[in-house]
Amino acid sequence: MSSAPLIDPFARAISYLRVSVTDRCDFRCTYCMTEHMSFLPKAELLSLEELDRLCSTFVRMGVEKLRITGGEPLVRKGILTFFEAMARHLASGALKELTLTTNGSQLRRFAKPLADLGVRRINVSLDTLDPAKFAQITRWGRLPQVLDGIAAAREAGLRVKINTVALKGFNEDELFSLIDWCAAEDHDMTFIEVMPMGDLGEEDRLDQYWPLRDLRTRLADRFTLTELAERTGGPARYVRLEESGQKIGFITPLTHNFCESCNRVRLTCTGELYMCLGQEDMADLRAPLRSSLDDAALETAIRAAIARKPKGHDFDYSRQGVKGQMTRHMSHTGG
Ligand code: SAM
Ligand code: SF4
Repeated sequence: MSSAPLIDPFARAISYLRVSVTDRCDFRCTYCMTEHMSFLPKAELLSLEELDRLCSTFVRMGVEKLRITGGEPLVRKGILTFFEAMARHLASGALKELTLTTNGSQLRRFAKPLADLGVRRINVSLDTLDPAKFAQITRWGRLPQVLDGIAAAREAGLRVKINTVALKGFNEDELFSLIDWCAAEDHDMTFIEVMPMGDLGEEDRLDQYWPLRDLRTRLADRFTLTELAERTGGPARYVRLEESGQKIGFITPLTHNFCESCNRVRLTCTGELYMCLGQEDMADLRAPLRSSLDDAALETAIRAAIARKPKGHDFDYSRQGVKGQMTRHMSHTGG
């Protein structure tokens, strides 16, 4: 059974779904969560069977790439069952890529089973190689455990991309050591500009904002940068460092407009579908999912949601204020 593809009002085909399978995490990164987060009651979460049904419906409707995220996806109980369920779409050819974004803490345990299920590439978030700074930024994380997890991923044959949030006054001084480490370990690397998500609380996101255009200028002091044409339908732009041959990505939702090629939507662990990371509008898919055992109501709700996908986001750090500030946390929508 297959359905007509999902095309939004701006003629963008929706082929990429990011799914947050939990809002919980074993870390408390300062730019992502407050120290004392209140999490959703378990009863509110979609069950793994419901997540399977929802994702399978999207795959039937033309989604070819699935990224599992959170919270920390690998702390969700029984998560391998869900990956197993999604692996059948890889086997059928309907799904081209099954991947995840993780903080790396559980990879020693999960890397091999994930690779066996057909996961080929993963993103691991890592902002510093200094154990004390790592403990400071993640509050609860420990660097050796994550480095060991990354090593396990490579042993299992997974390609690793390191995602680093560029944080002013925090990892500015590690720009080259991080790049050199990724080159030595053969990891791809992407820098992310910090986004105004969640309540600012004790951390002022504007103080942490290190524009990637500055970071690029610093890179250009040491390397010859060649702009690459590669686009993935998201906010990432890539350069090659000619001296090392490394490909470096930049995710700059605040300084570039990438919306015109946006091919993605995001599903939360409670079944809310966000059509844009930077807008509040969302569609509840849990109600149609639970209202009947056949997927007709669900498909209708998904089509109605895609018909509302906005043209673009409203983030803007310009001048003194943070405009377009989102009140929900990244761990809710899934980064
Ligand atoms: N726990 C997993 C992890 O850390 O990779 C997956 C979820 S996490 C929310 C996904 C990504 O969002 C991470 O790379 C994290 O660094 C990034 N992130 C979280 N809060 C952010 C913020 N305010 N601005 C930019 N990136 C953020
Ligand atoms: Fe957890 Fe990832 Fe958020 Fe850090 S960025 S607190 S690891 S969900």
